[in-house]
Amino acid sequence: MIKCTAGKISSRIFQFNEANILGPYVDSYLYIGEDKAVVIDALETAENLYESVRNITDLPLEVLLTHGHRDHAGKGLHQFFEAGIPVWMREEDIPLYRTSAKEEHHFLPLKEGQIFDLGDRKLETVFCAGHTPGSAVFFDRENGYLFSGDSVGSGHFWMQLKHSLPLHEFRTNLQNLIDLTENTSDLRIYPGHRNQSPVQLNRQYLLDEAVLIDRILSGKETAEKKTMRLDREDIVFCEGHEGLLINMCYDPENL
Ligand SMILES: [Zn+2]
Repeated sequence: MIKCTAGKISSRIFQFNEANILGPYVDSYLYIGEDKAVVIDALETAENLYESVRNITDLPLEVLLTHGHRDHAGKGLHQFFEAGIPVWMREEDIPLYRTSAKEEHHFLPLKEGQIFDLGDRKLETVFCAGHTPGSAVFFDRENGYLFSGDSVGSGHFWMQLKHSLPLHEFRTNLQNLIDLTENTSDLRIYPGHRNQSPVQLNRQYLLDEAVLIDRILSGKETAEKKTMRLDREDIVFCEGHEGLLINMCYDPENL
């Protein structure tokens, strides 16, 4: 059985990493409040996530999925469903989940602005479609934490997928996030693939992303077209970078 490893970020935040043959790969997080804890995302093939979480806390739990890709909504979910833990995901990503998962599960539909009250901490659901049609992030406004899955990438960002939204639509959602976090001086972003960035991502990362996208949308960015093979399909993409954003892949035909 493939297992994840737990790491402590603080007394309130734990990170669970699943590695593949190339090393650390995808992350889930546990965020602990006074009365309740939430697990953000569920890794791909690791089946010991629930057990790992229960080794840390016995508080009531809920699972919040940032999107429906199989590396964030994977096998580990099974045990949460079996234990009767509520699992939330946006309805828009359920078709994505169905194409990659072998078993059917019932997800509770995440709503824009939905608050998860952990007692002394609150997480707010912010829709941020782009990477997928149902991408969302979870924001603790008071403490400056943003759990973002793949919604803004992890230093590397994929916007070239067949189901990714046009870049200008994501740009609007990114601006919403930039505006929401305007007064959060020490924003810490906890993304879905934390190892992909050599530094702790912060609000500057969102601003860098906006700069690159604006350059692309205004026609000032020139990049050669490349092709990658993904899920038995050839995908045409271009690459760009700016500041903390090491690399963004995007579809030049889907701006
Ligand atoms: Zn993804």
